[in-house]
Amino acid sequence: MVSNKFVTRFAPSPTGRLHLGHAFSALVAFKQAQAAGGQFLLRIEDIDRGRCRAEFIDAIYEDLAWLGLTWGMPVRVQSEHFADYQTTLETLIDKGVAYPCFCTRKDIQKEIKRAPSAPHGPEGAIYPGTCRDADKTAANARIDAGEAHAWRLNLDAALAITGRNLTWNDKKRGIISAEPHILGDVVLARKDTPTSYHLSVVCDDALQNITHVVRGEDLFHTTHIHVVLQKLLGLPTPLYHHHKLLTDSNGKRFAKRDKSATLAQLRADGIDPKTLLAFIMDETDS
Ligand code: GLU
Repeated sequence: MVSNKFVTRFAPSPTGRLHLGHAFSALVAFKQAQAAGGQFLLRIEDIDRGRCRAEFIDAIYEDLAWLGLTWGMPVRVQSEHFADYQTTLETLIDKGVAYPCFCTRKDIQKEIKRAPSAPHGPEGAIYPGTCRDADKTAANARIDAGEAHAWRLNLDAALAITGRNLTWNDKKRGIISAEPHILGDVVLARKDTPTSYHLSVVCDDALQNITHVVRGEDLFHTTHIHVVLQKLLGLPTPLYHHHKLLTDSNGKRFAKRDKSATLAQLRADGIDPKTLLAFIMDETDS
């Protein structure tokens, strides 16, 4: 019987073919779900309409099936749920913790150059807050006039609601105190897409009742913001397992551009999936 106590997911973005690093991530999650008698779900993170392609979605199903994985249905395809993210964004706007941002990349770079000491975080320079305190009526007039804008989290306003003592439980590192200032006023909805990675991942982990988020340690820092959003939205914070990243023989992370490491290429080379699984799972200290 499937237990509801352990639900995890693999959430690839269909911007290229899956490589060995993806296979590892999917397998870590799949194996944990199996061991716990829980559920393994799949989510297609295709909010970036410019970079995601339908053929890569089909390829994800094909590659994972080739590896012998099975997943719970239905698969959640993010681009089919923009209305859910819009509703979530409106909740945040109503709470007074989101503001429209009209800055272009250039504007932001200019502002950062002007600042005597622009703070940097794991994703580079932190947004300097140019649009944060803009006059609301003027901002609304710009929106009404059709000016392109993103929506950003007003982190200080958010923390005034949630308090600053936010934590999460991380399988490998224990209880972590959130330090959301390392990311600052993150984008909640992009100019070209009515959501962002942060908003949709938090929304979907809750909607899919994910109890254990298993993902690469390259995303560890994003959890500092995810717990803030969860608290603001009254959503549960799952347990997190940020696994190590699989690297090639030179210690380099696999990337979508490494064609030789794609599952498609390995399959074409006649590699047996069982051999591949054994190789990947040898990397046990995930
Ligand atoms: N879509 C993200 C990626 O492909 C993963 C997001 C997550 O697991 O939270 O890197």
